[in-house]
Parts: sequence; structure tokens; C-alpha cells
Amino acid sequence: MKVKVISVLEDNYMYLVIEESTRDAVAVDAAVPKRLLEIIRKENVVLRAILTTHHHWDHARGNEELAQLFPGLRVFGADERIGALTHKVTHGQELTFGAIRVRCLFTPCHTSGHMCYFMWEDDSPDAPALFSGDTLFVGGCGQFFEGTAEQMHTNLTQILGTLPEDTKIFCGHEYTVRNLKFALKVEPENEAVKEKLAWARQRDDQDLPTVPSTLHEEFLYNPFLRLTEEPVRRFTGRTEPVEVLRTLRSLRDSFKKPKERPNPQAMLAFDWGLLGPLLEKK
Ligand SMILES: [Zn+2]
Repeated sequence: MKVKVISVLEDNYMYLVIEESTRDAVAVDAAVPKRLLEIIRKENVVLRAILTTHHHWDHARGNEELAQLFPGLRVFGADERIGALTHKVTHGQELTFGAIRVRCLFTPCHTSGHMCYFMWEDDSPDAPALFSGDTLFVGGCGQFFEGTAEQMHTNLTQILGTLPEDTKIFCGHEYTVRNLKFALKVEPENEAVKEKLAWARQRDDQDLPTVPSTLHEEFLYNPFLRLTEEPVRRFTGRTEPVEVLRTLRSLRDSFKKPKERPNPQAMLAFDWGLLGPLLEKK
């Protein structure tokens, strides 16, 4: 099982999972069809299905176009709002695509219909993979747009947190540096946070993805998976895990975004917009 990591839009990840013996492939969060088609051609694979984690446009907006291009394409997800959905899946449901096996893990909170996908191949030495969408990120967790801290607590501790520790985590966004800066604020003494942040900054400088991580690693530096650790409790001023999580997420919400990198084209357009009329008057 090969996973192609495809960076799209500002900081999204789209994935193409390839079964190497048959060249069958399954896409996860097909937001940008053009990019996906390039990879499909280059890898010489047949797209069998799309698995969508949630209905947000930056994860699902390519579904309709791909469904038109590939008649009979199956689109899986847990939310009626997902475009071109053909198969609504439920928690624990298992899917098979050739040798690729998928278990659907329902994790409502970021959206009320969020599904994660746990994948493996029977008789393969490869570690399993989790496509965690906007529920679990490298070093962080998703915003609670349509759910509660109780739900996210169940998602992180009972649904995702009980998977094998060698599971590779492929998440929906490249938020790693920002997440780990926050993690360092929460646990300034945590060496695992410091190391991962230094590494993530290097990857960022080279424009390389920080996915996948492993669940084992996440337990070491991701504060949202460390709710019972003393420094995390102290930082939030809470002891009950759900309350620690609720407070942690709301502090993360207000944690400042780094300054946007200037986009030279946008700056040019802006300058012309400002100066153009003045110059024309002359
Ligand atoms: Zn989202």
C-alpha cells in the first residue's frame, strides 16, 4: 500500500492510496481534481473510489467533477452534505478495495458527520494508516464547529487513541508548526515537542510535508492526547479530562496565527489598485 501525499490549496492534504499489485487506487479528500488526475496518470492507476472525511469545501469540492469524469465512481462519506455522495457509511463499517481494507471511524465534532478512515493491507508488513481529516492533526486537533468537547474527547481517547501505536497519521491540513508552537506554550519543558517543532520548521523551510506522523509520536507531543499529564492540566487550570480539552481547544482558538507570507502578485494588484487611479489622473 503506497500513500501519495498531495499538497493542495493553501495548506490542505489530499491523498491517493495505491494498491501496488493491481494498480487500483482510492482517493481521500479529493479537493482538487486536476492535481489528482495528474498523479493518477503519472502513477498509472485506476481510481476506484473517493473517501471523504467531511463536507467542507476544501475536502470535498472535487467530488462532483470526478464523479462526472469517472461514471460509476463510488463516493463514501458519513454526511449528506458531501457532494456526489453515493455510499453513506457508518461507524465500524468495513470496506475492501482489492487488498486494501478500510474501517470507518465516526468522529463527529469538527463537523457532525466527520468520518476518519483506518486502512491496512492484509498480509502486509506495512504499518496501518489513519486518514484523520480535521479531527486529529500532527500536534493538534480540529476545531469544534459542530460538536462538543465531550465528543472530541471520545474521538481522541476511545476511537483514535486506541488504534495500534504504529499507525501512520495522515491528517487534513499542514498545521504542524503552528500546532507545535502552541504545544510548546502548553508544555515548555517537553523535549519531544521541542524536537518535533525544530524538525517541522526544517520541513517547512524546504516546503516538505510533515505527514505522516505515528500515533506513538502524537502521544509524546500532542497536548490534545495528553489531557491527564500534569503540565497540561496546570496550563488549563482544570483536572477533569473533558474540561482540560475544552479549555485547551479554546486557548488554541485564540492562539495567534503567524503573519501571512506576502503574496507578490496580490501585492502588485493592491499597489496598482491604490496607485493606478492617481497615475491616470496625471
Ligand atoms: Zn474542515
